[in-house]
Amino acid sequence: MSSTQVKRKKVRGVHEVSPIDVYRLLPGTNCGECGEANCMAYAARLVNGEYTLENCPPLNEENNKKLRISLGELTAPPVREISFGDARSSIKIGGKHVLFRHEFTYHNPVPIAIDVEDSLSGEEIVKRVNSIENFLYNYIGREMRLDAIAIRDTTGEPERFANAVRIAREHSDKPLILCTYNPKVMEKAISLIPDSRPLLYAATTENWKEMAEIALNFSSPLVVSSPGDMGKLLSLATTLEASGVPDLVLDPGTFLEEDIAITISNFTALRTSVFRDGSQNIGYPLLGTPITAWAGEDLSPEVSAWREAWAAPVLMSRYTDLLIMHSLEGWALLPALLWRFNLYTDPRKPVAVDAGIRPVGSPGKGSPVFITTNYALTFFTVESDVKSAEIDCYLLVVDTGGLSVESAVAGRYLNPSSIAEAINGFCLSDLVDHRKIIIPGLAARISGDTEEVTGWEVLVGPKDSSGIPLFLRNRWNNS
Ligand code: SF4
Repeated sequence: MSSTQVKRKKVRGVHEVSPIDVYRLLPGTNCGECGEANCMAYAARLVNGEYTLENCPPLNEENNKKLRISLGELTAPPVREISFGDARSSIKIGGKHVLFRHEFTYHNPVPIAIDVEDSLSGEEIVKRVNSIENFLYNYIGREMRLDAIAIRDTTGEPERFANAVRIAREHSDKPLILCTYNPKVMEKAISLIPDSRPLLYAATTENWKEMAEIALNFSSPLVVSSPGDMGKLLSLATTLEASGVPDLVLDPGTFLEEDIAITISNFTALRTSVFRDGSQNIGYPLLGTPITAWAGEDLSPEVSAWREAWAAPVLMSRYTDLLIMHSLEGWALLPALLWRFNLYTDPRKPVAVDAGIRPVGSPGKGSPVFITTNYALTFFTVESDVKSAEIDCYLLVVDTGGLSVESAVAGRYLNPSSIAEAINGFCLSDLVDHRKIIIPGLAARISGDTEEVTGWEVLVGPKDSSGIPLFLRNRWNNS
């Protein structure tokens, strides 16, 4: 790291703080306003990342101000949390307590911003903004959307840039990133939306004074950019911090193809310095710009989108906190969206759906009933298989704590009693006039006991739900 790096006291992530340390700084009244029986229980959940300081209302009282400040310092993440956007919609980035997800869990999933160039006509800007606004992909019951709009100055004309910002603001609530190196262009645009608190991209060695002034005047966070020059980047960040700009985002530059190793090395060096060396002055969120895949060479849109599609998840893994992309094609965005979902799903909490009875199609009194677990991937796979085979049936979803069939049987979460509870609790006998249930093939070994405990006839279905149509033809219609 550069000599400009200033070393300060190492900050611990909240996961390294003990509940006792937190407890000592709480009001200690055990008032229960946080929803817990006492302050100790709240402290335990705070260090587990389940609560924030906002969950303890007494900390906002004037006489508890000192406690709140001390707790804020004690539990502050080594990578600062920075937000942009306004009351209509805002985004938090950074706020990382750990270098590796398995050490705790990651917070603040990496937002994906899509660019809009100011060279587009008004009509084209509206169309692109609407596409960003309406992008939606459903994955195992979760809605995946795009998060922000990055307006890019490609004309150098303050009027055009401001007009693009105005149109975007009128047609979308998503937080904005204003991208220009020209302070005059930036000032005109942000003056149109003075309370929107967009992220400003970017301060460089040439414009940092003017950009710092704009950031301070409009209370906006500011990106510091110095592609490929880490020394300059850190020097600039230190200078801006000393100038009083509190919220910075670092852009070390995103180089792709044969230079991807340089990119990864720079991002990794910045992040590991925070966690391993305690270098707080670079504990800012990092910006990745896979959009650079579209710059320079004269490539086809498909090749550029492909480059961007693989770069985004790579950057997310090492250690980008915000991405700016250009592609709006589903195939180019899905790798980043799905990888984000996986990376930011708390490994301690399985992805679950609610237990209950789910009708598929138009089931009647004689329709088959399939037992399944409330692990989201299991449920949606079974549901998708019966839906695509156009089978009218009921899915009886048993609460297995979000475990899949095999794990739930092994851990005794899916057992004769839990199935009986689900049958009775969700009043299955009111829906069908037979007394047969179909359990997954992977739960075959509990079929006998289940029959005994529930009093329902148990058919053992296929191990894989793709085999359900064949199973029904052979076993249900003839049973
Ligand atoms: S709200 Fe605060 S003071 Fe009240 S019990 Fe919870 S942690 Fe303690």
